[in-house]
Amino acid sequence: MSVPTLLSHVCTSLHILNTIDFCLLQFSKLTDWFIQTPGGHMETGGSLAQAIRKPTLTPKAIIHQRFGSNASYTVKEVEEPAQNECPGLAILQKGPCLYRCTLELPDFTVVSDSFKKKKDAEQSAAQMALEKLGIKPSADSPTAEEAWRELIARVKYIFSNEFLSALHPLSSHFKAALRRIGDANGSVPASVIAICDGKPNNLCKIINPTVESHPFLVLSYIMRAAAGLQELVVSPEERLSIWRKDPYPPDVIESSMSQQSNVAECITIMAIYIPCSPEKAVEPVVLNISTTGYYLDVIAQKLGLSDGNMVLISRTIGKASSETRFYFEAPKSYLLDMSSDLLNAKVVTLGGPLNARATYICGQDIYGDSILASVGYTWKGQDLFYEDVTLQSYYRMLISKTPNGVYKLSREAILAAELPLTFTSKTNWKGSFPREILSSFCRQYRLSEPVFCISDSPLKASLELSKSNKKPEVPETAEQEGGYANGNGAVDSKSGGFGSSFTCEVKIYSRCQDLILECAPNILYKKQNDAVQSVSLKVLSWLNAFFKDTAMPLEKQKQLANVFGIKFCPQNFSKEVVQCASVYNCQQNDTLGGKDPESYDVVENDLSSVNIEGPESGLCPSGGSLLCVSYSVSLVTKGELQKELLESIEEFEFEMGTGAVIPCLEVVVSQMSVGQSVCFYRELPPEDLVLAAAKDSENALAFLSLPCCLEYSIILLRVTEPPEDRMEQALFSPPLSKQRVEYAVRQIKESCVTSLVDFGCGSGSLLESLLEYPTSLETIAGVDISQKSLSRAAKVLHSKLVMKSDPDAPCKSIKSAVLYDGSITDFDSRLCGFDLGTCLEVIEHMEEDQACLFGDIVLSSFRPRILIVSTPNYEYNVILQKSTLTSQEDDPEEKIQSQSCKFRNHDHKFEWTREQFKHWASELAVRHNYNVEFSGVGGAADQEPGYASQIAVFRRGILPKDDGHGEHEDSACHYKAIWEWNRSKPPLTN
Ligand code: SAH
Ligand code: MG
Repeated sequence: MSVPTLLSHVCTSLHILNTIDFCLLQFSKLTDWFIQTPGGHMETGGSLAQAIRKPTLTPKAIIHQRFGSNASYTVKEVEEPAQNECPGLAILQKGPCLYRCTLELPDFTVVSDSFKKKKDAEQSAAQMALEKLGIKPSADSPTAEEAWRELIARVKYIFSNEFLSALHPLSSHFKAALRRIGDANGSVPASVIAICDGKPNNLCKIINPTVESHPFLVLSYIMRAAAGLQELVVSPEERLSIWRKDPYPPDVIESSMSQQSNVAECITIMAIYIPCSPEKAVEPVVLNISTTGYYLDVIAQKLGLSDGNMVLISRTIGKASSETRFYFEAPKSYLLDMSSDLLNAKVVTLGGPLNARATYICGQDIYGDSILASVGYTWKGQDLFYEDVTLQSYYRMLISKTPNGVYKLSREAILAAELPLTFTSKTNWKGSFPREILSSFCRQYRLSEPVFCISDSPLKASLELSKSNKKPEVPETAEQEGGYANGNGAVDSKSGGFGSSFTCEVKIYSRCQDLILECAPNILYKKQNDAVQSVSLKVLSWLNAFFKDTAMPLEKQKQLANVFGIKFCPQNFSKEVVQCASVYNCQQNDTLGGKDPESYDVVENDLSSVNIEGPESGLCPSGGSLLCVSYSVSLVTKGELQKELLESIEEFEFEMGTGAVIPCLEVVVSQMSVGQSVCFYRELPPEDLVLAAAKDSENALAFLSLPCCLEYSIILLRVTEPPEDRMEQALFSPPLSKQRVEYAVRQIKESCVTSLVDFGCGSGSLLESLLEYPTSLETIAGVDISQKSLSRAAKVLHSKLVMKSDPDAPCKSIKSAVLYDGSITDFDSRLCGFDLGTCLEVIEHMEEDQACLFGDIVLSSFRPRILIVSTPNYEYNVILQKSTLTSQEDDPEEKIQSQSCKFRNHDHKFEWTREQFKHWASELAVRHNYNVEFSGVGGAADQEPGYASQIAVFRRGILPKDDGHGEHEDSACHYKAIWEWNRSKPPLTN
């Protein structure tokens, strides 16, 4: 249906009904509610099409309309292996939980596909059923005419005898109305009908889609529906309330009243008064509601009104279950002109000054002075629900309008935390994740949920690389243990990716699906999650920069957007966000009002001179370290005569170098070592932040009226070193992992081996990389105990060997590959007699006795011709982790102790010195008739402290009667083959 026909359809149907005329709305100017249309015809402005877009019912809702309880949905969890990932992998792919829905209708049954969310499965089943029935959703939703008729029926129902006893939040209002005194007795404000009953809202959106952006229009329609029920109710237009013509029969009243508990207490609720004039301070108010009183009348009184009938009520703020709303006087001009007819609408401009602060927090236009309170009747029970809204909660709502504020609140560290600028890893990120914050931002500003588009580009980067270089070159492999090619969690697209890599873009649309902004950084990430979080963070960082200075000129906005790789539509952006945000700016400028920053000593500008106390322990933070501090922040007056504690946290963790805390805190902490404490001062941040942190707002406000600043006291509790791979990354080029692979490749080439087993293969980084080189290898195998790692290894190998089986690939010599789940301290005859074994960076993950056991088993039973074992050189750690050795005179025992926790990786059970490693390897070699040579990668043999990764190469000696097979004659199968590939056999398919 075209827009004009739909419009005329709405108009004529209402006209035909001839019930009530209604005002025309000017669609093109959404900021005004009612406006005169000169000449009495409608304007069709640019946004008309959006304004009139009809909300379509969901497939499930349509099925419900048609079949009611005859439609039965059953949702079941399904276990489906993740598709097209790796056929033949014998490990159950955990993947996300999926659901299928079966919808039974009287005549047939449909089963949906599987979905991550139950409700998507249900909707999909309903959609399938609709298709079977030949129903098109849009054609079947009620017409405006039907909706109008239904609205009248609904109003009639809620004023019926039976509704008074219904279990409905609205019926509690009806009961309370019966206790109202004077004129108001028995009258129910139209506002409460609009907020407590979902039905009129939905119906009004069908009658007039503009209701979506102007929710208070629902009141007009309710009043008009009531006016059509003159035999039942009285609805004087100037009162915005409705009451029954005939009182309820006494027995109806009696039975309905018996449902309420008879607590005869007076209720005291804290609320907030927000004057319309921005110069006037926001203040707490107390609502005293007596047992017989109606809360809306109490609120009205605080607003200077005679009763609650003329109070308008906003939608709820914050979480879904919240009853926190704004209350304000209905503007006089709001009253509907009931006499006007459809084609001759009169001017009804909603007047009154906009309450900027309330409008900003609410995201809905609020006029005049306003009260913010959390009170109301709910579905939970018959009694009044209420909570205090303090000044602190008000300021928290205010700061939660910015991404930075949301992050600070999620960490409960308003005066210390900042939304970091980089997402390095899931484990190092503390507080709400960027993606969550972006979603909550969109909800706050009533935008559509952000749309993410992830693309998986397996090996793309490495292919591009080999194209550009004539010589085949190994793409840089990011290290396996959660490693990245740079500190940002990203794989640099120029240097090539490892396995599959992901890019992610995000788009943000308005409610009406106008594109507001998009961000599509061309950065590859090893993990999907990293790609999603990083792109979200880029958008948030840009938004933050914007909120810091909402008055920034468009040119600067664009410049900033470029920095973050963001494209935005200034028009749509300002329509949706800027309008609200302008308030935030004036809030910020309010701070420090009238105070002279020179009048007290603030060390902020000279943080190098802060006084750090306590002995230097040598354990210092560096970029990438995870720090744990204990801190407290207080307001102090000049001369520190008075102090008011604002915020304190016993253990607060953050990653250094990501901007996760306010800059001065990071600067100070970077000069400290574990165990030391410090105290410094900082100029007052925006007042919003101080008051959002302060539990006692009254005291805080008293301080803020004096010259004062913030005092930070900090103790550095712990420093956790960055993961080994990232340290190595920073120090070695090519990365150590790549150097290890190259080392193995040299051995393979020199010894012409045809079979290789990688003990502790992890995610297959070695096996994968080997496929990049032409070698003599025909058979490769990997063993590990981690199923998760093995699954990843299988996928990587599958994609290289099966999907990309290029006849010219360097790995064309490979005939078979297999992955086993098992412990390398167990023997398995299937790997007996392989030419070469590798065991790179594995033994330190086992207890020392297990490492010895592995050595014995491998050299006595598997007996490869060559075995290459690598492990970290403990002595090299000093270089990796910045020198933290205590001074020479110190007791060497103590030195060892203070360092004993400083392994490169948390999972390491030990790290050996060169001496310890030599001892282990030499004894083994002698025991099993092998020769052993020592070598390494990273650093140099003849330079202290040796190689970063030390390597032992064992070569089998010749024993009399040695047939190359081990002592195990039996065919022990202790490993479980979880993935196998054979060039001769056709690939397995699902
Ligand atoms: N060799 C790989 C992985 C090193 S991480 C690389 O260089 O990238 C250490 C690996 O050893 C982990 O994947 C861990 O699961 C594995 N591992 C630890 N103890 C093991 C054991 N007893 N048997 C088999 N694998 C083991
Ligand atoms: Mg290791």
